[in-house]
Amino acid sequence: MTDLESHLAPYAARSAHTRGRVHAEPASSSRSEFQRDRDRVIHSTAFRRLEYKTQVFVNHEGDLFRTRLTHSLEVAQIARSIARNLRLNEDLVEAISLAHDLGHTPFGHAGQDALNTCMKNHGGFEHNLQSLLVVDELEERYGGFNGLNLTFETREGILKHCSRVNAAALGELGRRFLEGAQPSLEAQLANLADEIAYNNHDIDDGLRSGLLTLEQLDEVPMWGRHRAEVTAAFPGINGRRAINETVRRMINTLIVDLIETTGRNIAAASPKTIDAVRAAGPLVAFSPKIHEEAAALKRFLFRHLYRHYLVMRMSAKAQRIVSDLFSAFMQDSRLLPPQYQASHGGDQPRLIAHYIAGMTDRYAIREHRRIFAVSESN
Ligand code: MG
Repeated sequence: MTDLESHLAPYAARSAHTRGRVHAEPASSSRSEFQRDRDRVIHSTAFRRLEYKTQVFVNHEGDLFRTRLTHSLEVAQIARSIARNLRLNEDLVEAISLAHDLGHTPFGHAGQDALNTCMKNHGGFEHNLQSLLVVDELEERYGGFNGLNLTFETREGILKHCSRVNAAALGELGRRFLEGAQPSLEAQLANLADEIAYNNHDIDDGLRSGLLTLEQLDEVPMWGRHRAEVTAAFPGINGRRAINETVRRMINTLIVDLIETTGRNIAAASPKTIDAVRAAGPLVAFSPKIHEEAAALKRFLFRHLYRHYLVMRMSAKAQRIVSDLFSAFMQDSRLLPPQYQASHGGDQPRLIAHYIAGMTDRYAIREHRRIFAVSESN
């Protein structure tokens, strides 16, 4: 096979130098190792479920809001554009981006917090670690092994954060959290592309839902600056078109800044290999000015959107659904589908966490009704 990765920078991740898969497999005749990983993620069950899982707005609240699926596609698009500019491995950043949220519970962060609380005395619940478990263990697609058997580099990128306790149990993959080392540039990039995507689409969805107003947003410097640019370029522009043009420009500013700053950081550190990248400090970064502006934007979203009383009401309902389900299954595991009953092997609280984490928003709502509403059929 011709080398599909000959155009990459020396510090990029390369299939030829991968630390490999847990279960050895023959190389593909037509695809690089990271292309295969990307394809495996897209064909997984967990990936399809992202369509019905929430970011901020619960799936049934409207058809135009982001879901985890569209969010993951936006992250992949942003990450790939930046990767191509920096001659990083586009297939690897795409695989990481598409897989990064596979372990998310229903109802976004509210669901994750509730499940973590339920699991407090049983090892806790981290959505990041759950994403890794999905690709390592929970997907059932291959005759010879559990999970998707992805490369070390894709798995390294999926595991963005990890507590020291969990890291210690993960062996080679967890080592960087104990030693303070970095992951590949592709992994660092997917992480910041995630941030660019959600900050901007939460503004867009926040305005669309009416929970945020344009007047409130004027206090955010990054928004104000780009909004003024748009008005100057298109006098009289307003409504959705003005919002979209502003968000579009903000995303572009963040991407260009990330490319330029990271390019400078790479030039200064001049890593010759991916191992040198891992030993250096974080290299993928925004400039100080943009970093501060992005932080201000995040604080704004936290105050005005994530803590908005209507979002809080939905989050409270979501937390109740998750903890009600968890308690009901803990009290009587016979209510669980057989494959999640510990009598078939496994640790009961963890099996319940896997069952709940795999649910879509609407499945969790339906399951709650099936368990608790007398009038509902089973
Ligand atoms: Mg994300």
